Amino acid sequence: MAVRCLAGMDFDSNVYLLTGEDPILVDAGTGMHHQDILKWLSSIVKKGKVRRIVLTHRHYDHTGGAAALAKELGAEVLMHPLDAPAVREGDPRQTLSYMFGIHSQPVEITELREGQVLTTGESSYEVIHTPGHTSGGISLYDREGKVLLPGDTVFVGGVGRWDLPSGNFEQLACSVKKLLSLAPKGIYPGHGDISQNGASGILEEALKYLGES
Ligand SMILES: [Zn+2]
Ligand SMILES: [Zn+2]
Repeated sequence: MAVRCLAGMDFDSNVYLLTGEDPILVDAGTGMHHQDILKWLSSIVKKGKVRRIVLTHRHYDHTGGAAALAKELGAEVLMHPLDAPAVREGDPRQTLSYMFGIHSQPVEITELREGQVLTTGESSYEVIHTPGHTSGGISLYDREGKVLLPGDTVFVGGVGRWDLPSGNFEQLACSVKKLLSLAPKGIYPGHGDISQNGASGILEEALKYLGES
């Protein structure tokens, strides 16, 4: 299977591994479960294999663990330019780390472009800019496998909050429409359940909830 999931523990986001010769880690959790993530990774891939960590957006529950994981794995951290500054600087308000009583560590970031394709050797994932939850939120989409990783844009049975710094309701609705137009099958959100076949129905429900369908 091309996407492996470590379900979020406590406040952590879900952490995904896109498998292949050159695997990609998607999101890093808060850092509170650093050792659990490493243990999980070592059960799937050899040490030193993971060279890229993609962060779906700036929030601490997805990015807090990035600095330590990048150092441990020797990996590069990639994210959208609109969310990169908050994480680079460890901005407590913009990353929401203040909610955890933590000042986030600065992280070195390589910026991703809309439409950029990241290949693991097994599957290819396109970077789709999906603002609304945050201005620089991204989704990853495997067009061939019809597999979508929407970050916190949409969940199984819900949508991301749009009332946090840089959130925007209209943009969120547009982003959900954009994702629906891709006709995905599998969906692997930033929190909660995954669905291997129900993505389009879940996105339609999300649009209904947003009053946009
Ligand atoms: Zn989250
Ligand atoms: Zn979030």
